[in-house]
Amino acid sequence: MKAINKIYVNGAFLTPHGTEVLDLISPVTNQKVGEVILGDEVDTQNAVAAAKEAFKTFSKTTREERIAYLEKLRAVVNRRAKDLTDIMVEEYGGTFQFCSMVTQNMLNDISAMIDTLKIFDFERTAGNSKVYLQPVGVVGIIIPWNMSNGFIVTKLSTAIAAGCTAVIKPSEMSVQQTQLMAECFHEAGLPKGVINFVNGLGDVVGAEITRNPDISKIAFTGSTTVGKIIAKGAVDSMKRVTLELGGKSPNIILDDANLEETIPTAIFAAYLNSGQACAAGTRLLVPESKLDEVNAIVKAVVQNIKVGDPKDADTVVGPMVSKKQYERVENYIRIGQEEGATLLAGGEGKPQGLEDGNYVRATVFTNVKNNMRIAQEEIFGPVLCIIPYKDEADAIAIANDTTYGLHAYIFSADKERAYRMASRLDAGRICINGLSHDSKAPFGGFKQSGIGREYGVFGLEEYLEPKAILG
Ligand code: NAD
Repeated sequence: MKAINKIYVNGAFLTPHGTEVLDLISPVTNQKVGEVILGDEVDTQNAVAAAKEAFKTFSKTTREERIAYLEKLRAVVNRRAKDLTDIMVEEYGGTFQFCSMVTQNMLNDISAMIDTLKIFDFERTAGNSKVYLQPVGVVGIIIPWNMSNGFIVTKLSTAIAAGCTAVIKPSEMSVQQTQLMAECFHEAGLPKGVINFVNGLGDVVGAEITRNPDISKIAFTGSTTVGKIIAKGAVDSMKRVTLELGGKSPNIILDDANLEETIPTAIFAAYLNSGQACAAGTRLLVPESKLDEVNAIVKAVVQNIKVGDPKDADTVVGPMVSKKQYERVENYIRIGQEEGATLLAGGEGKPQGLEDGNYVRATVFTNVKNNMRIAQEEIFGPVLCIIPYKDEADAIAIANDTTYGLHAYIFSADKERAYRMASRLDAGRICINGLSHDSKAPFGGFKQSGIGREYGVFGLEEYLEPKAILG
């Protein structure tokens, strides 16, 4: 049995003041694998106090010192890369394929932040005045369970680059991953209090971070519902917020795209992280005239997708993180059928032989109308909706007809045509002819997918406060 019974505050692993105990459940077996002792408001206040004290000196460090700290962090993460991947697979059932990519991205993200810091302009001129960008203060980092360490690394490396200190609250479903990450950060030897971790529930530790007057900014990744609660609470002390929220990303296949080549990638984009990804391309928009052809290819591809043990290198869809998440996805599969969408692959019930875990069948609905709930609401599981469109204008209208605006994908034989389409989409990131990540390009959402941007110069500016000096 695993026992996660420490939090990390002021450079030390401590027994929390909180006493609430939560069971750790394997998504593969639904058996209890351990327990975590959760932190409480007092633990959070202690962590904030440590971060506030550390900020006094850390905010004055030079660019070179911060680069050196980031390089140390990168070295430790690199050394523990295999362990970091393995614990992701084990704890939330992320596939080995996906989790290996997340670990590599963590390393790339730290390197990219080092590069950004090297060239970043902390002193600028505006009109006749000097503008200095100074670290915003103590940052509260609140994150979800899906690829949680990836989010910690992105946010924390930006905070460090800016000269901010941080209190991190992971999801209660990612405490094992976070424990390992805390060990890495401890080993990297940053000054005491710069980085603090408090495990705990959203309405306890998360709420204290939101309300605590000594936190200057909240960097949040999670659902739009919780993002709104945090934004409302944060305004009382006028905290800065960056919110990375949900998505229902369109993937537009243009009529000149080679379907045999693009459909497998499109399905991979939909089932990213077993469908538990904010950026998953879950609405596949295809030309009406090609719907039958698309259906046939999608069906053939999905039948060959492996749903199963996340440890296996060829598994594309692993278990859902929890029983609750499994039930939520199953419910949407029922709703899709009730709404009159055509079930093309998968459907309700667990795949044969995988009854013990939270496994959902790789599911595809076709003939979906964009106003159906399965096309509008974030399902967060392996459920793809195929939506036919008449022409380019119709495709753009459908793609933008959503409350979200995080990500989009376009496939076309004509790159310029794809760029023209991209200019008309309301989404923070648009991938053309494939899936890619750029650790220096801004990431974030239009509309209810969030506020603010992460990565590179745009991301770093979110952790800084401009101060103009006139005269
Ligand atoms: P969630 O919103 O339920 O929880 C996220 C975090 O917020 C957790 O740490 C949780 O404990 C905390 N929280 C809950 N209630 C809180 C409160 N009242 N005050 C403060 N904190 C509180 O999300 P989840 O289920 O863990 O993750 C899935 C969601 O995250 C999906 O909607 C997904 O789209 C989104 N997500 C977005 C991105 C992105 O970059 N845009 C990336 C990954 C996940």
